[in-house]
Amino acid sequence: MKQMKCPYCGHTETSVLDSRDTEDFEITRRRRECDKCRKRFTTYERVEMVHLLVHKKDGKSQQFDRKKLETGIRKACEKRPVGEDKIEQMVDEIERELRRRKTTEVSSAEIGELVMKKLKAVDKVAYIRFASVYREFADVEDFEKELHGLLKKK
Ligand SMILES: [Zn+2]
Repeated sequence: MKQMKCPYCGHTETSVLDSRDTEDFEITRRRRECDKCRKRFTTYERVEMVHLLVHKKDGKSQQFDRKKLETGIRKACEKRPVGEDKIEQMVDEIERELRRRKTTEVSSAEIGELVMKKLKAVDKVAYIRFASVYREFADVEDFEKELHGLLKKK
C-alpha cells in the first residue's frame, strides 16, 4: 500500500480511524489522523489489484487483464512442449514484475517485451510466434533478422 502523507505537515505516519468501501467498490474511503500534528483527513484509495493501467498502441487504455495475458501466452505455446504449470508460472512472474514497479501505468509494448523475455527462455518457437504478433514487426527485415539470429544460435 502506498504511503499516505499528511496533507498538512507531510508526515508519513498516519493512523486509520475508519475505513469503508465506496459505491464504486474499487475505492476505499479512509478517515486518517496524522500521528504528528493530529489533524484529520480523508483519503480515497484504489484497491491495489485494479491499480495497473495498460496503454495500448491505439491510444486507448484499459485495466490490466491477467486472463488476456494468459491467453496470449497459451496461444503462443500451442502444441509446444510447454506445460500448464510453466504457463501459469510465466503469467505469475510477469504480473508480479508489473506490480512491483513504481508506476501503475504500463504500455502494452512493455508487457509484450516481458512476455517475450520469458518465452525466449522457455521455448524458441513460442517466442517467435508471440513476437511476430505482438511486435507487429515494423518491417519484415526485422522479423527475419530475429529468426535468423535464433537459428544461428542452434
Ligand atoms: Zn500532520
